[in-house]
Amino acid sequence: MTQLIHRNLRVAPPTAVCAFGMYVRDGDGNTYLDASGGAAVSSLGHSHPDVLAAIGSQLKTTAYAHSAFFTTDVAEELAARLADGAPGDLNHVYLVSGGSEAIETALKLARQYFVEHGEPQRRVFIARRQSYHGNTLGALALGGNEWRRKPFEPLLMDVARVSPCYEYRERPAAQDVHDYTAGLLVELEHKILDVGPQNVIGFCAEPVVGATLGAVAATPGYFKGVRALCDKYGILFIADEVMCGMGRTGTLYAIEQEGVVPDIVALGKGLAAGYQPVGAVLARDHIVDRLRSGSGVFQHGHTYNAHPVAAAAALAVQKVIQRDALLGAVTVRGAALRRMLRDAFGTHPHVGDIRGRGLFLGLELVQDRETRRPFDPDLKLHAAVKAKAMECGLMVYPMGGTVDGRRGDHVLLAPPFIATDADLGQIVARLAEALGRALAAVRP
Ligand code: PLP
Repeated sequence: MTQLIHRNLRVAPPTAVCAFGMYVRDGDGNTYLDASGGAAVSSLGHSHPDVLAAIGSQLKTTAYAHSAFFTTDVAEELAARLADGAPGDLNHVYLVSGGSEAIETALKLARQYFVEHGEPQRRVFIARRQSYHGNTLGALALGGNEWRRKPFEPLLMDVARVSPCYEYRERPAAQDVHDYTAGLLVELEHKILDVGPQNVIGFCAEPVVGATLGAVAATPGYFKGVRALCDKYGILFIADEVMCGMGRTGTLYAIEQEGVVPDIVALGKGLAAGYQPVGAVLARDHIVDRLRSGSGVFQHGHTYNAHPVAAAAALAVQKVIQRDALLGAVTVRGAALRRMLRDAFGTHPHVGDIRGRGLFLGLELVQDRETRRPFDPDLKLHAAVKAKAMECGLMVYPMGGTVDGRRGDHVLLAPPFIATDADLGQIVARLAEALGRALAAVRP
């Protein structure tokens, strides 16, 4: 056993010794085709020369400058670029070191927004069941996976919950999409009224749900309805784009495709594409204006806020995405990958759904295609798929099984934006092999 603590305390993962382009190599000489960008992180693939050069040159100028003493040109330029690319008046950017920190920042910014307005009684966030927003205590409390929260429950704030927008599994066959969406919005409105709008800070959701549901986009009009309810009751809409943001779905921000502007957006993962640990929070004018004209201080901060090397990496990543027209590429390659997945798995007896946006695609695995009955969670099919995929030289991001059994296993694909058609073909071929082996392993 190593001294380093791994998630699995009994089995250490393979050692990554080098990573280049679409591949990661381990210490035994095995190479893995990265079909998930880790966890939807490595959007430019590995060892991109422009990003390495930007990091190197920033290290040589200012490796670190504490944000309580200084700002840096590189952090300012990154903030300006993120704000320029964002919808509406999301003009203000706070830089942190990852997704959970971004969510914590969003929660505190939202809370302070109301405290500064003389509404300290507002303390409730509303979030969705089967959601994930990070692993720090505030973010964990927000997330809707009971099994994740359970050991820490006494330490977590109360969060009000509503259903996710998860058409494949939760829309009754007899109900049309419009009515399903309307029902979800009624449920949200009832929840706001139950809690009391004067007690609610905000509603948080992922525009396209990543890890917990497997690339599930909302039904048409859902987020317009959410925005309207937030406006009606004077509460904030926080979009968690940690996984789906920064081009993954074909637009810089996933919420652009919904035609609404959140009050706060959280970013992580693809922001610096794994080259540095970076997260960010964007906020609209009215949020920052209130704090500025009130106390004048955001009561928050971390040692590595706006870290210059991290900012340089994120800035370089964002410049490459623009220079190489990678947003368009994501749309085109995403459509190609979807076609290939449909060809390979469209009639597969255990693939119930193929979905997602851009290069953010999910396959839901089912015991029975007709009834959509999920596999028994105890079989841990998702874990078998991951293990077999690694045997086949493929990295995919599987999740699965819920305590209430309402959700099936799924596999998330989020390959780097630089993937070629040949890479995509390899991903599908290796996935087919891995799925076959996994099904054979879990079925008696
Ligand atoms: N929010 C979402 C939607 C995520 O998928 C994640 C990570 O998977 C987080 C927040 C937390 O990000 P991090 O793991 O960088 O803390």
